Amino acid sequence: MNQLIIKDLNVSIGEKAIVKGFNLTLNSGEVHAIMGPNGTGKSTLAKAVAGHPDYTITGGDVLLDGRSILAMQPDERARAGLFLAFQYPSEIPGVTIANFLRAAVQARLTEGEELNATAYYKRLYTKMDLLKIDRKFTSRAVNDGFSGGEKKRCEILQMAMLEPKFALMDETDSGLDIDALRIVAEGVNAMRNSALGILMITHYQRLLDYIVPDFVHVMYDGHIVRSGDKSLALELEAKGYDWLKKELAHA
Ligand code: ADP
Ligand code: MG
Repeated sequence: MNQLIIKDLNVSIGEKAIVKGFNLTLNSGEVHAIMGPNGTGKSTLAKAVAGHPDYTITGGDVLLDGRSILAMQPDERARAGLFLAFQYPSEIPGVTIANFLRAAVQARLTEGEELNATAYYKRLYTKMDLLKIDRKFTSRAVNDGFSGGEKKRCEILQMAMLEPKFALMDETDSGLDIDALRIVAEGVNAMRNSALGILMITHYQRLLDYIVPDFVHVMYDGHIVRSGDKSLALELEAKGYDWLKKELAHA
């Protein structure tokens, strides 16, 4: 069993404190959803954990199996088992998905270890079958002219091939249509297993109709203000965030 602990994390962008005392423990096999109004620091949290250079950690720690990852470069964090699904994935014209994934898998091997091409394609096709992705898909250039749904499919396939210990998915993109939401949900559900922990950031209650999380957390003003199970998401859907803001103002 693996464990990711975010401990009293504080993150600033420039001089501005965005994430303020954020605490969360994520175990293998669990799916946690983080919800919250816009501008509350959800994407900042995800990027800081991934090691984005624009974000300064001013306090707290992030521990993967007891070891701090804060001094690691983003690629080391990835090798240690973290996967971050970007809200706005990059296009790489001229590089096919098959070659991109191969390079990504190769990069995860230890020095001097060679990737076995036959084994690689066997694994790729197994994952594609699991995710119901057409074989033709991998001969296309990465995200080049992709629809929102195709970008998500590419990202989910990448995640399946890298087999991370923990995946952080930031799905707040207002451009996510129903098609893309469903692709994310089907992919996540297909990959859900006891070896993978998922942190799903979403602005949409609707995504949680497809992915039933074990825990739901509400983030407000840079930290978690309430935690519960999926009924908390339903409550938010019915009442919005205003009641929570009022309640917190009076607390
Ligand atoms: P959420 O994902 O919850 O909507 P964000 O983490 O994107 O929230 O943003 C939190 C706050 O940080 C907002 O006030 C936003 O304007 C600010 N912010 C986010 N990214 C940057 C940036 N690159 N530079 C300056 N301010 C930023
Ligand atoms: Mg966001």
